[in-house]
Amino acid sequence: MANSKFEYVKLYESDDRLLPRTYIVIRVDGRGFHQFSKKYDFEKPNDLNALNCMNKAAEGVMRNVQDVFLAYGQSDEYSFVFLKDTNLFERRASKLMSTVVSTFTANYIYAWSQLFPNNPLDGNFLPTFDSRAVMYPDVQSLKDYFSWRQADCHINNLYNTTFWTLVQKGQLTPHDAQTKLIGTLSADKNEILFTDFGINYNNEPEMFKKGSILRWEKLDHKYPKNPTKRQLDKYRKSVRDAKINILHCDIIKDEQFWNDVLAEED
Ligand code: ATP
Ligand code: ATP
Ligand code: MG
Ligand code: MG
Ligand code: MG
Ligand code: MG
Repeated sequence: MANSKFEYVKLYESDDRLLPRTYIVIRVDGRGFHQFSKKYDFEKPNDLNALNCMNKAAEGVMRNVQDVFLAYGQSDEYSFVFLKDTNLFERRASKLMSTVVSTFTANYIYAWSQLFPNNPLDGNFLPTFDSRAVMYPDVQSLKDYFSWRQADCHINNLYNTTFWTLVQKGQLTPHDAQTKLIGTLSADKNEILFTDFGINYNNEPEMFKKGSILRWEKLDHKYPKNPTKRQLDKYRKSVRDAKINILHCDIIKDEQFWNDVLAEED
């Protein structure tokens, strides 16, 4: 269609290239997962299989969308960070977001079929995700972004753990459990769990409390600049075979974690 009289329509496309030398973070989030989790009978407050499904989907993104060096997930969301100098899709936001979210969704549905063989997806109620792209100009703001998401995980999980314990073990109605928790601080929730139910929140699974971090075991396969076919094949093979580690560590306080991750990135 080159040079056809129709081609001017291309001029209507906006230039949505993200700024150079910034960390691009793309976050996907499940659409209506509160309902989705009811429809497919997720265990409350945390369905382990459903979290594993998210982790598998995120691994699919790391392997299939080049230049993602770190990912963090909790509940129905996952954040992906690109190498600061990535030139994937010339950094066009729409291309990056749509590729990440569709790769994530495709892998989620595939992982679902493996993890929930007895709970098949209903064609009228399929999992979908939205996505957004945000640029962080320096390491501090990138760290603060992850701290924000991990703090969110902690706050929600402490609330949900207490709420569902009151409902499941305390025989409270959801309404009464909610009322009881109004105005409570973290310390109060820990106290309810411990005193009334003998649950030490600290002993809850790390994945529930901290979320999941995915990182390459070794980032020795940076996408080559203007690659030859041979370089590209080599790159693809290294990504296919590389090991991805899944961690549930504290990324808010752990300086060593960031030193390691960023040493590889630069
Ligand atoms: P939106 O479309 O605006 O994102 P949403 O219903 O997805 O709406 P979120 O704030 O994203 O709202 O919350 C996701 C919800 O999905 C949680 O509140 C929780 O009820 C449910 N959920 C997600 N993952 C799990 C899980 N592994 N186990 C149990 N429930 C889960
Ligand atoms: P990119 O990732 O840049 O889009 P691409 O390989 O998808 O690369 P396109 O320009 O989008 O390139 O072209 C899509 C190609 O997919 C076509 O050239 C054709 O080879 C193939 N294709 C798509 N649909 C069909 C179809 N229904 N039957 C046969 N081939 C198809
Ligand atoms: Mg949302
Ligand atoms: Mg959601
Ligand atoms: Mg969410
Ligand atoms: Mg195409």
